[in-house]
Amino acid sequence: TLSAKGIRKTFGEKEILRGIDLEVHEGEQIAIIGPSGSGKSTFIRCLNLLETPDGGSLEVLGQQVFHAGTKTPDRSVRELRKQVGMVFQSFNLFATYTALENVNLAQRRSLGRSLAEATVRSHELLERVGLQDHMHKHPAQLSGGQQQRVAIARALALDPKIMLFDEPTSAIDPEMRIEVLHVMRDLAQSGMTMLMVTHEIQFAEEAADRVMFIADGEVLEIGPPAQVLSAPQHPRTQRFVQAVG
Ligand code: ATP
Ligand code: MG
Repeated sequence: TLSAKGIRKTFGEKEILRGIDLEVHEGEQIAIIGPSGSGKSTFIRCLNLLETPDGGSLEVLGQQVFHAGTKTPDRSVRELRKQVGMVFQSFNLFATYTALENVNLAQRRSLGRSLAEATVRSHELLERVGLQDHMHKHPAQLSGGQQQRVAIARALALDPKIMLFDEPTSAIDPEMRIEVLHVMRDLAQSGMTMLMVTHEIQFAEEAADRVMFIADGEVLEIGPPAQVLSAPQHPRTQRFVQAVG
């Protein structure tokens, strides 16, 4: 479903990603862990071309979307972003719109759905993330966890085939995180292909098929949670897992 080969990224003089390979199968969930500054966000942003890699190639859903040395046409980038949804640490909701309007907006803009069509889908998704009673509230009237669930509903409204999450719970109060993780776990169980950068080791253990440990822009270890989290091979992974777990 997604195949990244030799992904490299340099900012200024600094090589942030040093050739990352990853094959993700349909319906698979991958948790990405690693120290701060190791390149996790940069890597996940490369997967929907929010960052343009400097090297390597990327194939998503059978389409080549990036190959070093060739510029990806804007149309392909738009197409890619419809199929690959992304949820960030900051929710980026429009403050002047209600939850419902926020979820409608993306569908109207990106898919050209009518207001009626979009509204039906938004209701469905806001219910799915447990916000049926909060649809008409503005972001400021919602908790961090609720805002993040609106952001997840908004991403799902475009009917993506793959979902990327970059530390979706790290800007949320601990007691509100559970409900966001619950939504993510449901989504994983429904068979969505997911890549998630997370600091929640326990969640990674439960929800991911494979865990990828990145340090200094390289994949040091990848495998089932029972291997990478419970019996890490690499000393760097051992130290990391001990420190956060
Ligand atoms: P964290 O766990 O803190 O979120 P991360 O693993 O997501 O860390 P990245 O955000 O990918 O790390 O950043 C990796 C490195 O690249 C950092 O040193 C960062 O300062 C640098 N970097 C990221 N984006 C840019 C940019 N747009 N311009 C210059 N340097 C950048
Ligand atoms: Mg990051």
